[in-house]
Amino acid sequence: MRSAGQVVAVALDAVFDALEPGITTAELDDIARRTIRAEGAKPAFLGLYGFPAVACISINAEIVHGIPGERIVSDGDLVSVDCGAIVDGFYSDHARTAVAGDNADDERLRLVDICRESLLQGIEQCVPHNRVGDISNAVEQFVRDAGFELVREYVGHGVGRELHEAPPVPNVGNAGTGPLLMEGMTIAIEPMIMSGSWETKVLDDGWTVVTADGSLSAHFEHTVAITADGPEVLTSARNG
Ligand code: MG
Ligand code: MG
Repeated sequence: MRSAGQVVAVALDAVFDALEPGITTAELDDIARRTIRAEGAKPAFLGLYGFPAVACISINAEIVHGIPGERIVSDGDLVSVDCGAIVDGFYSDHARTAVAGDNADDERLRLVDICRESLLQGIEQCVPHNRVGDISNAVEQFVRDAGFELVREYVGHGVGRELHEAPPVPNVGNAGTGPLLMEGMTIAIEPMIMSGSWETKVLDDGWTVVTADGSLSAHFEHTVAITADGPEVLTSARNG
């Protein structure tokens, strides 16, 4: 899983290095595909539940599961990329959000910063004998204190020999509740937050999840191992 985590971190490094106004989401997906193959790994999302691409690319009001295609990224777009890799049958799952171009407004940058930091708050709770609700509550409180909302219908999850395993890891919940965290567990924590209401809907393509009110959304995700020494982030980038 460390290897699978490094592959997807390298793949998203390459995708975000290439992110600029004028590029298409299909081109970004192709960079993820070529990087994963060059690392000798397999893409985890391609064909999973019938998904047609290597990465989910979701822009602005799109939260998750956006399908790459001919859409051209515009200056100031909030671009979320979610991707996974398989090495020797073990999976990783990782997502980041950034603003394309040089004209990011403050609200977009703040949404990105709060989402990224809320993930780190959740990761800090990944120690043996804590509970899943401790992660959920840390993420939720941080995001709420910042004045943003969190997705309810889509959650983090265990990850290992499959992309999606037990237990569910919600981004909203009460401390001290839920499954016990044990040494050796590997989970994906993935806050999805928005500037408006928490309600979502799925577009007619059957995949793309958007905010119901059209507000902006950001998404960060790490695959984390729970060890006796605390959390080990398996999908952290080589540049930190
Ligand atoms: Mg993911
Ligand atoms: Mg995930």
